[in-house]
Amino acid sequence: GKYAPVEAVRGDFPILKKKINGKPLVWLDNAATTQKPFAVIDALNRYYTGYNSNVHRGAHTLARLSTEAYEAARERVRGFIGASSQEEIIFVRGTTEAINLVASSWGSINIRQGDEILLTAMEHHSNIVPWQMLMRARQAVIKVIPINARGEVMLEEYRKLLTPRTRLVSMTHVSNVLGTINPVDIMTEMAHEHGAHVMIDGAQSVPHMRVDVGRINADFYAFSGHKAYGPTGIGVLYGKRALLDKMPPWQSGGGMIKDVGFDKTTYSGLPYKFEAGTGNIADAVGLGSALEYLEKIGMDNIERHEKELTEAAMHSFSRIPGVRVIGTSPNKTSVISFTIKGVSPENAAKYLNQEGIAVRAGHHCAQPALAAYGLKSCIRASLGVYNSMEDIELLVKSVGKISRGM
Ligand code: PMP
Repeated sequence: GKYAPVEAVRGDFPILKKKINGKPLVWLDNAATTQKPFAVIDALNRYYTGYNSNVHRGAHTLARLSTEAYEAARERVRGFIGASSQEEIIFVRGTTEAINLVASSWGSINIRQGDEILLTAMEHHSNIVPWQMLMRARQAVIKVIPINARGEVMLEEYRKLLTPRTRLVSMTHVSNVLGTINPVDIMTEMAHEHGAHVMIDGAQSVPHMRVDVGRINADFYAFSGHKAYGPTGIGVLYGKRALLDKMPPWQSGGGMIKDVGFDKTTYSGLPYKFEAGTGNIADAVGLGSALEYLEKIGMDNIERHEKELTEAAMHSFSRIPGVRVIGTSPNKTSVISFTIKGVSPENAAKYLNQEGIAVRAGHHCAQPALAAYGLKSCIRASLGVYNSMEDIELLVKSVGKISRGM
């Protein structure tokens, strides 16, 4: 298909009409969160004005409608990431909660003293800290797969780290600070050859490229709705059914049980076993609408568009004296992190904000990745479906001014 003209896409996002400091908003903080199209805003409005109810099949008309919409959203997610069954799609709060679920539940029956967990050097803190807590509780060991100067996983080093003690490899699909697209299919196959399971953090991949969990063959895959143009507070854990079946419930309470007595409780089947309490029904429905919206534009088209903008920004930045880009793999998308000589990232971001440009300055919840470049902080411009070549040109022009001392 053809990419919908970016002007048409921009028209779907009301917030982009805002002026910031008298200038049109240029939203380049998409890796933190994305803006919402009318498709999502209207879906939330329709839910609350038309059929808000708790989900319990068959109780009454609104319960039937909300249950149908909730399960239709689950089916939309299933299709979007290529899972084979709805039972493998668990609604959670976001990527962070998904990783915590796996660390707690899967970890409780699979990680013992001396077992090894591999993480890459470019992980977001949410794919480090839950494993560290598990490691402490179980006296297991975390090993780090190093990255090269371009910000790519070193596959030969990874191969050496895989041992019979490796239980799990947990890695990001796309780095939120380097933009690197990791070869997760190859890395998953290598892990499986060693009998290790694989968890993939898809927070920065699902919104930017076609993801097929069946093809990647990872055991777990997580993403956040709010980074994929959906609402906050909703996300997804995909897990292979055979593994989820064996895992104990994580949180417990209503909704996840079949029968409860004071002496004994039996649990619901998948996916409800992992969805204790009233779920985030409205936002799940909103996420379904966001994914439907992305499908209409086409993920391949979105990937091509963002790649074109990423390459343009990388090319222009390479010609500005004093600008250092972190993450220079040719295999990257949608994230451009950089420093400007003699200017703190925080001050640079403040100046860009005066121009209406929203970027993030800081450690981006990936302190070890920045440390690999000797940095504590950098500026990050991250792209989304509505960014245009004009946005990139304005960013480049403004960064050029900052580098010349304004
Ligand atoms: N992993 C990556 C790669 C991320 O970019 C983020 C969000 N910055 C997260 C995990 C955490 O996502 P959330 O805060 O939505 O749980």
